Amino acid sequence: LPPSERLEQELFSGSNTGINFEKYDDIPVEATGSNCPPHIESFSDVDMGEIIMGNIELTRYTRPTPVQKHAIPIIKEKRDLMACAQTGSGKTAAFLLPILSQIYADGPGDALRAMKENGRYGRRKQYPISLVLAPTRELAVQIYEEARKFAYRSRVRPCVVYGGADIGQQIRDLERGCHLLVATPGRLVDMMERGKIGLDFCKYLVLDEADRMLDMGFEPQIRRIVEQDTMPPKGVRHTMMFSATFPKEIQMLARDFLDEYIFLAVGRVGSTSENITQKVVWVEEPDKRSFLLDLLNATGKDSLTLVFVETKKGADALEDFLYHEGYACTSIHGDRSQRDREEALHQFRSGKSPILVATAVAARGLDISNVKHVINFDLPSDIEEYVHRIGRTGRVGNLGLATSFFNERNINITKDLLDLLVEAKQEVPSWLENMAYEQHHKGGGSQVCIQSIERQCKSLELIKHHFLLPFIGGGYGGFYNSDGYGGNYNSQGVDWWGN
Ligand code: AMP
Repeated sequence: LPPSERLEQELFSGSNTGINFEKYDDIPVEATGSNCPPHIESFSDVDMGEIIMGNIELTRYTRPTPVQKHAIPIIKEKRDLMACAQTGSGKTAAFLLPILSQIYADGPGDALRAMKENGRYGRRKQYPISLVLAPTRELAVQIYEEARKFAYRSRVRPCVVYGGADIGQQIRDLERGCHLLVATPGRLVDMMERGKIGLDFCKYLVLDEADRMLDMGFEPQIRRIVEQDTMPPKGVRHTMMFSATFPKEIQMLARDFLDEYIFLAVGRVGSTSENITQKVVWVEEPDKRSFLLDLLNATGKDSLTLVFVETKKGADALEDFLYHEGYACTSIHGDRSQRDREEALHQFRSGKSPILVATAVAARGLDISNVKHVINFDLPSDIEEYVHRIGRTGRVGNLGLATSFFNERNINITKDLLDLLVEAKQEVPSWLENMAYEQHHKGGGSQVCIQSIERQCKSLELIKHHFLLPFIGGGYGGFYNSDGYGGNYNSQGVDWWGN
């Protein structure tokens, strides 16, 4: 399509400043699996076509992030992929770039024929060529926004559907055409049952933040979408899974959904890298508010601060308190309407309200790229959640700060937190060390020990040596060999993409 100044302004005006690539480049990546394609060093090492290359330039991504260096050639070679990588590593572009480039090269194929036939009977069912499943509406919207950037000047139309928002509006948007669909599982099942979406020609399936989706109880919906409807089987479709952790449930899903896959482990962004300075301070419950004010005053007005609290009520109360103290702040939690949450995020991102008070669930998967300071006003009870939270700062190599308030209510996280601080080469308060030591020698040790073993089971070595699932044979069944769609669908005034 011809360029549009207005669209370029809308899609690409955000900045990617402050990226500390030198540190980011150190993050280790390991690829395991038969005939793994070699990684790339620059975007131009792989042919992704004119549209993609033009859009990479517009986004000002000068070089691929570690996950992109490895995942792009793997996906380009049509290999299934299981990647342990977190939000913030650049994983969205890692799958969108090669998928879109292949869609541009191959065209709509049978999806277009099906849509036309369907249209003849007055139904407006859409047959997306690619489906991306994500756990939360916020993450789905972010992926959709990134897809719009890389679909710029192409005829591919990305759409997004998620729960909690007006379904009528989403249906009307789908009916304008949908080649790449980003969806939360519940809303997608609803759309399928209403006959609005058919997955019969879905060639590319992505499960993003798969562990979060399972945590949130979406497994039945995911299996319904992938296994119990019209989606092409594994080996025919091309499947990619992304997950921050690789517990047993995810291994099962990988075994069921992926075919002869490559396993990619990307070092944690945040915990093992030293991009984030982590501070743990002892603060008793009644002192938390005044301590918070001290921190906010020290941070400076222009930088974004994300404050985590445990409960929705706590979030409201803290927002009120800060507001009355004269701070521009907003909050995001499960009881706020979708509209309120989007508005709050917008206020925060734009810097109008540079303080965001959030509960963990509401903040999951958010890409707020220039958060300077994450404050755990209330620490979570498990370390995975802690890692997720502090990962909101120091994204893609930016330098960040995470401060956690610790008191006797957080005893259960002592040992894990200590290990993590040591692993990330952070300063460890001596009281924390003493507490971990005492706990271990007081018989609280067995619980800590179990947690520690469980955590280690998630580590790379064990994943590689014990859990990496057997690669099962099977080809692509000639699905990609279909031809006959060489740009000549214009006969009825409809272009290549059915627009
Ligand atoms: P993600 O992990 O996909 O949520 O990406 C995190 C952030 O990194 C997003 O704001 C992206 O726009 C940005 N990003 C992704 N890839 C690159 C790159 N190669 N260079 C610079 N920024 C990037």
